[in-house]
Amino acid sequence: MAENHVRTSFADSIIADNLSLVRTRISATCNRYGRDTNSVRLVAISKTKPVATVRAAFEAGQLDFGENQVQDALTKIPQFKKPELNWHFIGPLQSNKTKHLPENFDWWHTLNRIDLAQRVSSKALEINKPVNALIQVNVINDTAKSGVSGNNLSLLIEQLLENNLIGIRLRGLMTIGPYGGSETELRECFSELRRLLDTNRQQFDLAGFDQLSMGMTDDMEQAIAEGATMVRVGSAIFGSR
Ligand SMILES: *Cc1c(COP(=O)(O)O)cnc(C)c1O
Repeated sequence: MAENHVRTSFADSIIADNLSLVRTRISATCNRYGRDTNSVRLVAISKTKPVATVRAAFEAGQLDFGENQVQDALTKIPQFKKPELNWHFIGPLQSNKTKHLPENFDWWHTLNRIDLAQRVSSKALEINKPVNALIQVNVINDTAKSGVSGNNLSLLIEQLLENNLIGIRLRGLMTIGPYGGSETELRECFSELRRLLDTNRQQFDLAGFDQLSMGMTDDMEQAIAEGATMVRVGSAIFGSR
């Protein structure tokens, strides 16, 4: 018999088990902090993993996937029907890759420059498919990370609004927590992102600016405690890279 995608392999069942463990971590943390479990979207980070791995997670009920390289993502995304899955772009975006973004991704987590936003917006307009965008903030001013500093965030939002980029829906903020940070450092970083979301939403009167993408395998609990609406989880689902 030909390849039967209903048959579950051992590797596929590990992914299904891992997914259910991650979902349990999310719901336990939501319960602990008095949040609705449905208020946190799990984005499975499938970067570097083959399409069969994505399919195994999809068959276990996972609908949101994140990729950090356009080229790698384009080997997987067209293999799924639209709009079956939601694809999230979570990596640094190069100018020459902006044209692929609106067609392939529903969410862009790493908006950090006005020129990239202009390019993405015009492509989105061209194909009549707006992109949900999150501004990446480098909360802890880590020189190894991209993103705007908390101080420059308002300036970037001002530029985005002045340019009237209607191909982009400004939906919120994203950050990466301090690697190996203590409980206190992680909580401080995530609560600062939340504060920045609230103050900028008020300052600019932004409707729908309500998403916080923060928390990964090792710090999703701290992020959910501070209000994450999306957690980006890779290794806890797919194993180490
Ligand atoms: C790889 C990656 C993740 C997932 O990291 P894990 O520790 O494997 O959960 C989340 N966010 C970004 C931006 C990433 O590059």
